[in-house]
Amino acid sequence: MKTIFIGALPFRTTARTIQDLVKSYGPKEGTLEVHADWVNPTFEPYAVVTLRDPERAIEELDGLKIGAYHLRVHMAAEKKELKMANVDQQIVKEMRSFDFIARKIWPLIRWLFRGLIAPRCQQCVISSRVPNITLTNGICNLCHDYNRSLDKDEEAWRDKYVAHQVQELDQLLVSHQGRGRGRYDAVVLFSGGRDSTYMLHRLRRDYPGLRLLLMTWDNGFYSAVSLERSLEVAQKLDIDHIRFKPSSTVYKTLYRYTLQNVGQKGSYQTVDRLDGTLNQMLGFYYGYMMDIPLVLAGVDFAQEQIMQFHSYYVMPFEDMCSRTLLDRMERKSGFKIKDIFSEEDQKLFWDGTGKDQSKIPRYILPLVAWRPDKGSVEIERELQYLLPKRDSSPIITNNQVLAVMTAIDIKTIGYSSFEPEFAEMIRFRENDPIYWRNIFELVELSVKRKFLLETIISKVLVKLDLAARMCASRPGK
Ligand SMILES: [Zn+2]
Repeated sequence: MKTIFIGALPFRTTARTIQDLVKSYGPKEGTLEVHADWVNPTFEPYAVVTLRDPERAIEELDGLKIGAYHLRVHMAAEKKELKMANVDQQIVKEMRSFDFIARKIWPLIRWLFRGLIAPRCQQCVISSRVPNITLTNGICNLCHDYNRSLDKDEEAWRDKYVAHQVQELDQLLVSHQGRGRGRYDAVVLFSGGRDSTYMLHRLRRDYPGLRLLLMTWDNGFYSAVSLERSLEVAQKLDIDHIRFKPSSTVYKTLYRYTLQNVGQKGSYQTVDRLDGTLNQMLGFYYGYMMDIPLVLAGVDFAQEQIMQFHSYYVMPFEDMCSRTLLDRMERKSGFKIKDIFSEEDQKLFWDGTGKDQSKIPRYILPLVAWRPDKGSVEIERELQYLLPKRDSSPIITNNQVLAVMTAIDIKTIGYSSFEPEFAEMIRFRENDPIYWRNIFELVELSVKRKFLLETIISKVLVKLDLAARMCASRPGK
């Protein structure tokens, strides 16, 4: 069975005509498609059909004169998207088994590998390989410091601080319902992951008058699961949704450059910081271009602390009106965007200098104010109708490049540079320690012993044209 392409169809050719034409070559039922617009033509009319005997059909039909035209018949090109989907399916399969092993099997056997992987803090799970970390009684010095710093007065103050933010955010969202100058009141940066789905669910429930535009950026390296999920959720909630996929050079350039220049900083401050910042900034760019007053993102309190050293639910407007965020990204990563991107692509990185301030959006992080208890049964129940239990683990919905970043880190600095950051989130009770302990331990072992993540790492390196270069320095090679 092969699919053939039939081009240069005569005027008003119907599926019926094609059916008659190919019936002696064994057409497979349901595979015949005619693509033509007989009213406002914008492309050459063509058909595709899958046949049992395609060679004979091509032999006999190619060049056949019908009316004024000659049919052009040849094997249909294989669909590129399908090929990509297969690659992604393999990766998804590998991530699913990784996740399953990490959650179900690893906890039972991890004691067997004690000598092979780094000991970790029992409270925040940070690896003892991280510089300046010492474990006493199984707890790291950062956790000891944190626990000592918990002060009753400060806690009471913090509760008030959060309550104030909740109230202010509520007023802001209420007052923006239906007030945008155009079709939308807010762009929602929507990855299809748990956090952004939860945020969306609450926005929908509590602020039904807020006119939302969901924006999912597709960098070509996100998990197929999360992209499908974002489409599905948008459909279920029936909200306008755009998928923004910049030309492949943008992210490919970003990953290629940063992955090759990670150095001792680790990939979190370099690759991931650029990636994450660009994603947010694309939201600013869009809000500004389309005159949408709010940009909402599912960034939580701990992430915002780590990335922007900021503890409030709204980005200071002066930061939005200046180059502050871009400067911080360049300073922390050690990269300059002008060394990496074309002049045109540099514009995707938000620089508020000289922009029309009446159109600069407010950047809002509702989770920073709401501080949801993410593991709670209640949230689980609320999200049930949007997110199937299967595949809700972050490791499955995450960026495919993550596995490569981790491998590079373990090879060059001895631990994953995501660990200190996740440990901080765990200390703030924004992440589940047991889940991440299992993931980090298993990742460390997989990278050192080269199993479980092999498919994803090699596929991603091929996609980035880095296979030859990186394999030479891959762990264990
Ligand atoms: Zn700790």
